[in-house]
Amino acid sequence: MSILNADLHCHSVVSDGTLTPEALAARAAANGVELWALTDHDEIGGQHRAAAAAHANGMKYLTGTEISVTFIGQTVHIIGLGFDPDDPQMRQGLADTRGGRGARAMEMSDALAQAGILGAYEGALRYVGNPELISRTHFARHLVESGVCKDTNEVFRRFLTEGKPGFVPHRWASLQDAVRWITAAGGAAVIAHPARYKFSANEEYALFTEFKAHGGQGVEVVTGSHTTAEYVKYGETAREFGLAASRGSDFHSPTESHTDLGRLPCLPGELTPVWELLANRIQ
Ligand code: AMP
Ligand code: MN
Ligand code: MN
Ligand code: MN
Repeated sequence: MSILNADLHCHSVVSDGTLTPEALAARAAANGVELWALTDHDEIGGQHRAAAAAHANGMKYLTGTEISVTFIGQTVHIIGLGFDPDDPQMRQGLADTRGGRGARAMEMSDALAQAGILGAYEGALRYVGNPELISRTHFARHLVESGVCKDTNEVFRRFLTEGKPGFVPHRWASLQDAVRWITAAGGAAVIAHPARYKFSANEEYALFTEFKAHGGQGVEVVTGSHTTAEYVKYGETAREFGLAASRGSDFHSPTESHTDLGRLPCLPGELTPVWELLANRIQ
């Protein structure tokens, strides 16, 4: 089962990706994906379109989202898979999580103005596909297109990460709430790209311990921003904590993403794929 080409992490114009759900589905299928999930940030507005497009392209589908969480002062992303997209508590939790993004974006714009970059809010809005979902990525695209930086990586490094002039701290959902919304709606919660967080070993242990205690079921092992050594490391973490493993490219855009849909190595064979836990949720 783990040789299945599953890609359970990517973004559309409904959050900070540049392709529509339909274009992503076509691209995933062309790259050999057999089981797909669209996981827009804090948003499930693209789910019905994505499921229909998956089926039109001969793929199986799991519902998906990537929830922004604050855990001991840092942002952590929790992927939800296979939940009921009509579940009222899930829908309300995501709406609440999205709710602060507009004011945050205006604060980011004010902070960038102080650093001499004027009109960033209006500039970022030109790249936004969903008015409820303005993200740092949209600011990054604007700063590249307006010539301030050469690529989005440079924007994040110079302006949009902690301690940099355009960074505005934000309080997202709690870990417990995010896991509860997903699991109460029949889905599995998965820690996204664990190697990307700047936790100490003790803090990371606390993240996995609390996640598991709240009912979390999986961890992304093979993902676009992990190295081969990190596949091994988090495969071991999955076994240590009794978690299933997930695989997802985190694809955002043909021009910005290094990893295309469906092109990552398979999960290491000894791990339990998260989609085995979700067999009755696959559409
Ligand atoms: P936000 O949810 O508004 O805080 O934006 C987070 C998004 O910014 C992530 O999902 C990535 O798409 C993007 N991002 C974060 N860090 C970087 C980086 N160093 N380079 C490029 N994109 C990044
Ligand atoms: Mn993103
Ligand atoms: Mn993420
Ligand atoms: Mn993502």
